[in-house]
Amino acid sequence: MSKTALISGITGQDGSYLAELLLAKKYEVYGIVRRLSTPNVSRIENIVDNVTLLEGDLTDQSSLNIAMRTAQPNEVYNLAAQSFVATSWNQPVLTGDVTGLGVIRMLEAVRHFCPDAKFYQASSSEMFGAVPAPQNEEAPFKPRSPYGVAKVYGYHSTVNYRESYNMFCCNGICFNHESSRRGIEFVTRKITDGVARIYHGLTKELRLGNLDAKRDWGFAKDYCIAMYLMLQQKEPDDYVIATGQSHSVSEFVELAFKEVGLNYEDYVIVDKRFYRPVDVNVLQGDASKAKKVLGWSPKTSFEQLVQIMMKAEEMKYK
Ligand code: NDP
Ligand code: GDP
Repeated sequence: MSKTALISGITGQDGSYLAELLLAKKYEVYGIVRRLSTPNVSRIENIVDNVTLLEGDLTDQSSLNIAMRTAQPNEVYNLAAQSFVATSWNQPVLTGDVTGLGVIRMLEAVRHFCPDAKFYQASSSEMFGAVPAPQNEEAPFKPRSPYGVAKVYGYHSTVNYRESYNMFCCNGICFNHESSRRGIEFVTRKITDGVARIYHGLTKELRLGNLDAKRDWGFAKDYCIAMYLMLQQKEPDDYVIATGQSHSVSEFVELAFKEVGLNYEDYVIVDKRFYRPVDVNVLQGDASKAKKVLGWSPKTSFEQLVQIMMKAEEMKYK
């Protein structure tokens, strides 16, 4: 019999890839979508007729209860969040409400309406914050943003429901993962979009903040496979998902410009507006446990990721 999955955040980068993956595995897929004045289904346009969208919001308990009752899922993937770190300083209360408390609301809905469902929480390497790299499942959390703080709350809530109610709850502690579907304000998409605009003569400069920050950047599609694998195990557990390689923002910039034969130094302007009150300097994950237990390893290198993203941008402006 085919399985049923419910994805919150199905309209986001990861939600769209995960929905495609589960449909290919013959799942019946439901997605929770919040009401906006203009519907935002651009990332799932190609599969929208094959999934069932349910109206809901992570700040509204009753809508989540109804979604669980309606879908009766075998697997729940909680991907919805206010996911942009920089915004979390401007909207700290909303970030706490959606990215933190929203997890408890999802867990409560599962507990009351489909307690046997397996639950995946989209935890984040931002929880590690100031902890020295490399970071694995044993590393402490020292979050450096309201987003990171909210994700720590979500992480511990997920562990707590596993321990309190014996529910099948997993945290994927994902390091940064990108694609052509990444939100435009994240640095990788901002860079690849900016380079393509410059290449096509639409603009002359690219304004960025801290070029020295280092991130462990992987390809989003690879990471969605890990999410799925976590819920196929016999026992629930928490896993770091990462490439193990860390690169600076300036390395990403240099490679992206190189893809179109330009020198980044001619176009990049460092603009203090894009600095954060505090930044996370280096994130580099150790995903040995995921490799050992899940048999998961990333398939896409840093260089391939930049190429994939640049190719998609070039097509857009052609
Ligand atoms: P996106 O920002 O692309 O997607 C976020 C999703 O959450 C969107 O579908 C959005 O809906 C939805 N959403 C936001 N607020 C609400 C709300 N109040 N109620 C219901 N839905 C809401 O994020 P990603 O796909 O990149 O990331 C998925 C998850 O993984 C997030 O939780 C993120 O924090 C986490 N994560 C991501 C990492 C990454 O590198 N991408 C790394 C580690 C963790 P809408 O389309 O309407 O805006
Ligand atoms: P994050 O790791 O989830 O915060 O993902 P981002 O892509 O938003 O940021 C990654 C790193 O790039 C952070 O250290 C930012 O400070 C740095 N960065 C430098 N310039 C920019 C910029 O213009 N926009 C964003 N979003 N980040 C930038």
